[in-house]
Amino acid sequence: MSRPQISFEFFPPKTLDASFRLWETARALAPLAPDFVSVTYGAGGTTRKLTHEAVTTIHRHYGIPVAAHLTCVEATRAETMEIVQAYADAGIREIVALRGDAPKGQDRFTPHPEGFSNTVELIEAIAARGDMTIRVGAYPEPHPDSSGTDADVAWLKRKVDAGATSAITQFFFDADTFFRFRDKCAAAGIDAPIIPGILPIQGWAGAKRFAATCGTSVPAWAEEAFSKAAAQGPAAERALSEQACVKLCRDLLDGGVDRLHFYTLNRPDLTLAVCGALGVEPLRDLGAVA
Ligand code: FAD
Repeated sequence: MSRPQISFEFFPPKTLDASFRLWETARALAPLAPDFVSVTYGAGGTTRKLTHEAVTTIHRHYGIPVAAHLTCVEATRAETMEIVQAYADAGIREIVALRGDAPKGQDRFTPHPEGFSNTVELIEAIAARGDMTIRVGAYPEPHPDSSGTDADVAWLKRKVDAGATSAITQFFFDADTFFRFRDKCAAAGIDAPIIPGILPIQGWAGAKRFAATCGTSVPAWAEEAFSKAAAQGPAAERALSEQACVKLCRDLLDGGVDRLHFYTLNRPDLTLAVCGALGVEPLRDLGAVA
């Protein structure tokens, strides 16, 4: 089996302690020579400056392609495109273009009166510049705002037709969930790569909360195994997390997947262990990068 392309998601740090954690995570994972890494954009656009700093700092120090997440929430079109321009000025060439969720206290996404009203509009505006690789989100299980997978596939097709060149999925537990979605996308004529988003489970309680908010279903096997392991303590939980994540990745690779995107939560150990088990070893010597 050939080496898959790998990529990692980080989030921008809000404290000095968190900055050190991000730095250590990037430093631990950069030698694996990821295809790209991405940095999230806080809900409601709350991390505009922090995301910019994290994106440009990682890019400058590690020389890896960094994709900056960007949403349509709480910003005019002009403000959003200023952010894109600032990335272009800093040499950043990849954006993960998202609609985003409703700000706290609101239950539905409502566009800013002068903002992009949906992801397709945002993608079109970025694509018109002609200088950015545009990645987007994709949903193997129905997005909470959608009427079902067919609607998500149709919308993803619109996003790709508007200029997105790859999609990264929400996390899921079983490879079959991804394969069903991938096949529906292929049948709908979506030819952009769909990269499975992999969540190495750092803590069962947190993973379940996250699954509930984003519409990821928790299969009975996971509920039973993780609850049991969590009751046995952190070592058992950690061992199961690694084992389950390696199995998921192997199943995906056996099914023809050639790229994996890891949600690292700014903690490198589990992702490193999973990559090692898959035979994805360091390729780069960071040398002077310290
Ligand atoms: P879209 O794909 O545009 O919409 C989601 C679904 O809603 C569609 O599949 C479709 O079924 C329906 N829909 C939406 N608009 C329309 C329309 N006009 N017409 C028809 N159907 C429509 N959130 C953040 O705040 N910051 C981040 O950094 C961030 N990073 C993410 C990274 C990834 C890989 C993923 C998968 C999600 C991320 N999110 C992030 C969460 C994301 O913002 C939410 O899931 C949000 O609710 C949807 O954004 P989207 O761009 O994926 O939406």
